[in-house]
Amino acid sequence: MREKAVVIYLLMVRLMALTALFALLAALPSPAEETGDAVNDPAITAGEIMSHIKYLSSDGLEGRETGTAGSEAAARYIERIFEESGIGPAGDGGTYFQKFPISPKIGLGKSNYFYISIKGKKEGLMPGVDYAPLGITENGLRAGELVFAGYGISAPELGYDNYRGLDTRGKIVLALRYAPPGLDRRGRYYEYSSLRYKIATAMEKGARAVIFTTPTTRSEEEDITSAALDTPPAVRGMQAIIVRRDVAEEILEASGNSLGDLEEALAGEEGSPLPLAGTRAEIKTELVRGRDSASNVVGYIEGRDPKVRGQVIVIGAHYDHLGRRAYEGTTDDIYNGADDNASGVAGLLELAEYFASAGGRPRRSLVFAAFSGEEKGTLGSTYFVANRGRAPGRIVAMVNLDMIGRLRWNSLAVFGWTSWPAWRPLADAACSSAGLEANYGVMAPGPSDESAFEMNGIPAVTLSTGVHGDYHTPYDEWTKINPDGAAAVLRAAAALVDYLASAGEAGEFPGDAFAGDGLSGDGVYIGALPDYSGGGPGVTLLGVVEDSPAAQAGLETGDRVVTVSGKEISGIEDYVRAVKGLHPGERIQVIAERQGRPVSASLVPGKR
Ligand SMILES: [Zn+2]
Repeated sequence: MREKAVVIYLLMVRLMALTALFALLAALPSPAEETGDAVNDPAITAGEIMSHIKYLSSDGLEGRETGTAGSEAAARYIERIFEESGIGPAGDGGTYFQKFPISPKIGLGKSNYFYISIKGKKEGLMPGVDYAPLGITENGLRAGELVFAGYGISAPELGYDNYRGLDTRGKIVLALRYAPPGLDRRGRYYEYSSLRYKIATAMEKGARAVIFTTPTTRSEEEDITSAALDTPPAVRGMQAIIVRRDVAEEILEASGNSLGDLEEALAGEEGSPLPLAGTRAEIKTELVRGRDSASNVVGYIEGRDPKVRGQVIVIGAHYDHLGRRAYEGTTDDIYNGADDNASGVAGLLELAEYFASAGGRPRRSLVFAAFSGEEKGTLGSTYFVANRGRAPGRIVAMVNLDMIGRLRWNSLAVFGWTSWPAWRPLADAACSSAGLEANYGVMAPGPSDESAFEMNGIPAVTLSTGVHGDYHTPYDEWTKINPDGAAAVLRAAAALVDYLASAGEAGEFPGDAFAGDGLSGDGVYIGALPDYSGGGPGVTLLGVVEDSPAAQAGLETGDRVVTVSGKEISGIEDYVRAVKGLHPGERIQVIAERQGRPVSASLVPGKR
């Protein structure tokens, strides 16, 4: 789950704790799960969930950071389970992989050094501390005499040239970042203040490398390492580094100057170049660039009903996590991400097996998408949605799983639920069928991959057991997973997906998400969600959409409809036929049973 969105969610956790007190009193025991080590059982089992999580969160996968070998191993594992479950590929060119571009991760290689020698005295500086190679540098070794070229701007057309009268051939240029104060607010200087422009200018002037530093007019010196490493792609043929301001001061002091005085002189219309006699530098840079692409892993089950199989329900879970990085108070630097989000992927795989099995295949088509790049800003899901034209049908809804391994108080969070009025009644029904209670957290767009869908008008929710103290730390490990809880979450998810993929007969879905399926009669909308699986007599309403015609007529969730317009409803078939015969705006009488008592409702169907 992405960090920024989670902060908002954390504010709500206190509220949840209160609710939990009551939930605890009414907690249903979770039904016993069969366990076993097999990973291809179509049933949703705690044992299988655990073995998926154990593998995906193992130290060998090194935290599955997008673009690393660990995340590729995870992708191959997902591919294998999809294949073994009989899920078809829905990635690029008949494969399970959908490739998308990422900006490559750049790190320091083994051989980096930077020496300055002032009047024969040589000093070595620490990479990552005193200086850092820029992401746009080329690898290699450069040595030469130093010259100070102000802001590194050569703009004679603007009457400002830091290079005038300065011989920079074969030399190493020391230059300030940004533009002179006063001048930098004029738009025309903007293009001259980029690092890339300054490096290209130095190259034109025959220099061999550029050393940048931050002017004193910037009150706070930026973290040189973060300024340094994320500005690809490389400028060919040039070396470029950034140094701390005190290193630059030391170089300039040797020739009797101070950075502050020089900056004042540079603020005028004319630059003042400055050779730094007797000062040399030697720079060796080696940056290691990571992969520039990552992959979603996408599988597909074709719906069994030819009339609606062109409509697709996407089930998603991100398989990437944060990789390796230091964490205070421990030497463990592997962010295993067992809950975030090996648990959701385990759930995705279990649901894939479940729906692929005989009898599990629903009317609509299902796409199972394991996304990468979520922790870097939902990159994979955003790419997936942007390229949804390549999906095997029109995406009508999306259910996402992110952090489902820490069920507490039988409480399941539903994020992004405001993306569709039907989510609440549907999620309530799905949760109660699994002995869980839905709680409604972050509104749309939510904190995970479902947001990419929501922002494109596709109804989407994330199911989650919520954040906890080990969130985004190396302590998010499989030993803390609640496998029975995850199995319960997946029973709720399966019920929800099953409903989405099988319902939609007769105008019970609001909005246009399910419009045009050829089954909705005259396009009437009543806003009640019937139970397709229940036995007669009558049909139980699993949910009633707020402010819908059904709600306005006084119908409630749990009501059992027994007659429509005087016609008896013996089961779902009758109900579908009755709703198909309705016309928008034509008032009808519905009789339902509520807690054993008849309720009469006068309902005016709407138009969708
Ligand atoms: Zn996360």
